[in-house]
Amino acid sequence: MAKIAFVGLGNMGGPMAANLVKAGHEVVVFDLAKAALEHAVEAGAVAAGSAGEAAAGAECVITMLPAGQHVESVYLGADGLLAQLATDTLVIDSSTIAPDTVQKVAKVASEQGIAFLDAPVSGGVGGAQAGTLTFICGGDAATFERAKPILANMGKNIFHAGGHGAGQVAKICNNLLLAILMSGTCEALALGVKNGLDPAVLSEIMKQSSGGNWALNVYNPWPGVMEGVPASRGYEGGFQVNLMNKDLGLAYDNAVKNQAPIPMGALARNLFSLHGLKGNGTLDFSSIQRLFLEGEQ
Ligand code: NAD
Repeated sequence: MAKIAFVGLGNMGGPMAANLVKAGHEVVVFDLAKAALEHAVEAGAVAAGSAGEAAAGAECVITMLPAGQHVESVYLGADGLLAQLATDTLVIDSSTIAPDTVQKVAKVASEQGIAFLDAPVSGGVGGAQAGTLTFICGGDAATFERAKPILANMGKNIFHAGGHGAGQVAKICNNLLLAILMSGTCEALALGVKNGLDPAVLSEIMKQSSGGNWALNVYNPWPGVMEGVPASRGYEGGFQVNLMNKDLGLAYDNAVKNQAPIPMGALARNLFSLHGLKGNGTLDFSSIQRLFLEGEQ
């Protein structure tokens, strides 16, 4: 069992760190939010006063932070971790950030002889809690093999997408598709309900038909259709609209850079952006359902 530092204990990082504790690792944690830190301590982790304190003597450091600027500041900032870590430390960043940011951090890591892996995840808070996340990794093969047994404590599908940043490219493509399919699912449900259909019955029909998709299977956006999902608890918890907007921004920037057309993604980006601007930024992204029901709720 390893000594693991875990930094960033939010909706995803909290349950991921708890699963490492359950697997028998010694987990030392840090988060800027006191409540998140206390929650992790209740799950059996040891609290540290800073990211540097958590990482001292750790064989592996894992970060699960909101966006690229947080990752840069934790690794490269004034008290940045990369300047403090021992050369044999394994560093895994599971945040969703730009591939360019990964390459910047990975370059500094490799100059210091530190093994770095980008390992963004898919599977949502439910997957983080159940330990069934999909990890989409970027880095060299040796670092990937080294990280695999640790990632297996938090996920069940572990992919090696390619070199540094490749994990993020695959993750960004996935979330672009997720935004399109979630908004399309909400649109179809709203149309059916306008016609007097029961949203649960319509969901079941589409699930077993050619419109079936991940949102209908495990993350139904219509309140009350599915138990245990954000839609059935006022869209609290889950994957924030703000974070989906961040990911759609990453996809858009990447598409511009690579001259790749993303007309469906651009439309989804506009919808989520409008929804966020209406004060829904901290709600789960399936709350985009409300945009299709304006004037009716
Ligand atoms: P979150 O906002 O719930 O949690 C982020 C945590 O990081 C917060 O507790 C915050 O206090 C902490 N933090 C921020 N800056 C910090 C710093 N400098 N030092 C220590 N802690 C710091 O976000 P989340 O939903 O857990 O998402 C984390 C990442 O995972 C994001 O990049 C997101 O895009 C990605 N992601 C989220 C989901 C999901 O369903 N929520 C799914 C897949 C991927």
